[in-house]
Amino acid sequence: MEDEQGGRREHAEVIVVGAGVIGTSTALALARHGHDVLVIDRGSAIGHGSTSSSAGIIRLHADDPVSCSLAMEALPLWESWRDFLRAPDDEEMAQFVRCGSVILDHGDGATDRYAEVLASCGAAAEQLDAAGLLELAPYLDIHRFGPPVDITNDAFWVEPTELLQGALHTPASGYVGDPALAAKNLADAAAREGARFRLRSEVSGFDHSDETWTVRLADGVNLTAQVVVNAAGPHSAHINALAGVGDDFTVGVRQLREELHHVPAPPGVNLERDGVHVVDSDLGINFRPEGGGAFLVGSNGAECDPVTVVDDPDDFSAQVSVRSWDRQVLRLARRVRGLTVPPRPRGVVGLYDATDDWAPIYDTTAREGFVVAMGTSGNQFKTAPVVGDLMRQIVESALEKEQAPAVLHGQTTGREFPGAAFSRQRTAVAARSRG
Ligand SMILES: Cc1cc2nc3c(=O)[nH]c(=O)nc-3n(C[C@H](O)[C@H](O)[C@H](O)COP(=O)(O)OP(=O)(O)OC[C@H]3O[C@@H](n4cnc5c(N)ncnc54)[C@H](O)[C@@H]3O)c2cc1C
Repeated sequence: MEDEQGGRREHAEVIVVGAGVIGTSTALALARHGHDVLVIDRGSAIGHGSTSSSAGIIRLHADDPVSCSLAMEALPLWESWRDFLRAPDDEEMAQFVRCGSVILDHGDGATDRYAEVLASCGAAAEQLDAAGLLELAPYLDIHRFGPPVDITNDAFWVEPTELLQGALHTPASGYVGDPALAAKNLADAAAREGARFRLRSEVSGFDHSDETWTVRLADGVNLTAQVVVNAAGPHSAHINALAGVGDDFTVGVRQLREELHHVPAPPGVNLERDGVHVVDSDLGINFRPEGGGAFLVGSNGAECDPVTVVDDPDDFSAQVSVRSWDRQVLRLARRVRGLTVPPRPRGVVGLYDATDDWAPIYDTTAREGFVVAMGTSGNQFKTAPVVGDLMRQIVESALEKEQAPAVLHGQTTGREFPGAAFSRQRTAVAARSRG
């Protein structure tokens, strides 16, 4: 087909902008429900946006029941990944590693609050005393080092005298070591259901008329659709601006630069057997086992850690910084007995598309036929297999020219999720924690 300027034109019922874990999951759910979907991404490979730098932690604990339930709904899908995606036996699949999470108890009441939320969602959790924590992860130093301070602060180096009280253990949590592969698996599954993919295709603008969205690509091609889904990760605010969307949002979104560091475990530590995801608010870090006998460590967003807001998601340093490495890895060395700090920093850098309240925005917008799956805030990898189907429900409302449904349904158990929790116009609860 040609458009009025003589350029090539391709049509789909739904165009998804972004082939990260959220866009591909959305495409799969839509294709499974018989919709004609086209996913476009400016990159040359699936899942190579912020998804590729994700820590891939699938944790169940959360500040609120909606987040916890969403993670609970997604967990069985990660556990049965090949079956869920109806993938052939010879397809390389992302692996869910069930290592469990421990949330260290340093007496601030957080573990009691998490335990309450987990119980209300039916998630298994056990309180460990200090001996139980050591039995689970014998390489941990269970002293209390906090509250977290910068390593330039003398208090960081003071020898601790008190011990942690123990930890809250969620044995079902885990991680996916190759998040980009998970997105590729979703894309391959969507393609098997008929979804189309167009890589190396950068969106440069939109037009909307006669109930049709025209998606303009930088290479001059125009695409048309009834509904557009903005799943552009840290570029979602830019895509909204191109579409003239976002003025009525009451929830703000910022792009935050985050580093994860890769540190070999001390000799004798067997992370395949004893590895566990550790949430350590006492030191302001969290870490999980990484393949090859190493830890992957990141910040918990402690107050002493600088927040790096990135104005242009195409312009930030993708190199691990020595300053950030020292800050995170020296803390890890406090918690893991015998850990030596390698001389050369190693890790990944990525951007969070972070909202004011660390909850995502899954919603329709003021412009008919334009919906958003954005603000994933460094925590929506784990929920992605479920989010795809929630987005499918929102897209189907948009196709009917309706607002997002008041109640969304999880496809695993039928759990209900209030649409208001993901609304672009919610009142952001700023006190919520991110990790
Ligand atoms: C460092 C880090 C650690 C994280 N750790 C965890 C974790 O442990 N657990 C967890 O649950 N979550 C975690 N997250 C969050 C999670 O990984 C993200 O929320 C999720 O991967 C976002 O996926 P997405 O598909 O929305 O975005 P992306 O993966 O960024 O995909 C967006 C796509 O849009 C494309 N795009 C952008 N602009 C355009 C354009 N103009 N035209 C065409 N295409 C465009 C990009 O190329 C990209 O491929 C982490 C995130 C980061 C950055």
